[in-house]
Amino acid sequence: MLPEVQYRHQQRQSLAMKVTPDGVVVLLPCGLNADSPQVRTFVQAGLQKLQTSKVSETSEVSSEDLKALVADWSERIGVAVRRVQVRGMRRKWASCSSRGTLTLSADLLRLPHDLVEYVVCHELVHLRVPEHGKGWRALMGAYLPDWRERERRLAGWVVDRQRERKFGDLGGVGVRDGGE
Ligand SMILES: [Zn+2]
Repeated sequence: MLPEVQYRHQQRQSLAMKVTPDGVVVLLPCGLNADSPQVRTFVQAGLQKLQTSKVSETSEVSSEDLKALVADWSERIGVAVRRVQVRGMRRKWASCSSRGTLTLSADLLRLPHDLVEYVVCHELVHLRVPEHGKGWRALMGAYLPDWRERERRLAGWVVDRQRERKFGDLGGVGVRDGGE
């Protein structure tokens, strides 16, 4: 699961990278292309930095924990979740339909508890505010004051896993799943 890197051109002098709920966004000055060597080096370095915010690996989450988190947070946020399903998802941690079906990636079971909590809270807040605009951010701040920090660690965790998988492939022991 790759943190999606999106590129946006802006009226600006320098390159910048920020972590958003949908992944990593790189801001480019108008004259620069996403595939130029300068930009690639910058992105590599940025992803490295994400990765150095190490995540503790000790806590694992059971599917009961996951359901308890959903029950707890849907009550706190005041939204109705009609159905929860846990399954393999290729490019996302979770998704939520407007009719109240919450789909969670089975990969969440391998994440530390507080990052799973971030993902659950993120999705449930979407039942009140669909996009990641001001209203959504305000609610996230109210319910989970350190959500940005957790989001950054989640992105770092993904980069870390990816790197590990790459090394595994080099050693001939990795399981190939067609990338991501
Ligand atoms: Zn979202």
